[in-house]
Amino acid sequence: MSDNDTLQRFLFEHTPIRGEVIHLDATWQAILERHDYPPLIRDILGEMMAAAILLAATLKLHGRLVIQLQGSGPITLMVVECVNAHELRGLAHWQDLPESGNLQSLAGNGTLTITLEPSEDQERYQSIVELRGDTLADAIMNYLQQSEQLDTHIWLAANEERAGGVLLQKLPASGETEDSDAWNRVIQLSNTITREEMLELPQLQLLHRLYHEEQVRVFEPLPVCFRCSCSRERVVNMLRSLGPDEVRSILEEQGNVNVACEFCNQKYDFDSVDVEQIFAVDVAPQTSKSKH
Ligand SMILES: [Zn+2]
Repeated sequence: MSDNDTLQRFLFEHTPIRGEVIHLDATWQAILERHDYPPLIRDILGEMMAAAILLAATLKLHGRLVIQLQGSGPITLMVVECVNAHELRGLAHWQDLPESGNLQSLAGNGTLTITLEPSEDQERYQSIVELRGDTLADAIMNYLQQSEQLDTHIWLAANEERAGGVLLQKLPASGETEDSDAWNRVIQLSNTITREEMLELPQLQLLHRLYHEEQVRVFEPLPVCFRCSCSRERVVNMLRSLGPDEVRSILEEQGNVNVACEFCNQKYDFDSVDVEQIFAVDVAPQTSKSKH
């Protein structure tokens, strides 16, 4: 059975430790088809995609989780959004890329921001930390440590075919712990994981390879996909917020207004009639439909 585009949750029996392993395949290819990313940028973006889904899944988040890296260059911006813990999109901006480099050298003095926007009535949560770490996994673990989250370890990898990762988290112990050494032991076992294993081994085989001496229980695998939340309606709202003068001047300069979604490359075109319609709404009498 294929475990492409699948999140596999698991736990270690009789311990407060749970984990997840992710493979992104078509989800990842959907990103790569839309933008031509140099390998250095591509692999970090892929790792960020894997990280976003792993974090959203631990939170069982209904709503949006956004990881944003802002750098002082060559990487200037990298954003990944995960909706309802199974839909992903992402993008990266860069300039003057060197031949090689690690995350810290590519992003310079940067920041890492994680935003949670639950769709229910819970509060929005955002935390920003200084970017620190040679790899994205290091930077994310540094973030989690600073924002006093649960003990969490994360391993990430990406190439042109696939993005993948593993996450382990220690929940607050409930009562007496039968196996107080378990956390250190599974972290040590997990630290032997290689990039190739994360990208090439089937998930259950990977779990067996790492934890065959532990009692691991796996859950039902969950599907993950690429999805962009852009729409013509959202672009119209964006144009409205720019105001009629600004948009009409773009129209005058370029003949029509073309907006491309940065995430998925979908093009939205507006000619002069469209533009007048967008702003005509403002002066049209409001027909109120009240909901009770
Ligand atoms: Zn889009």
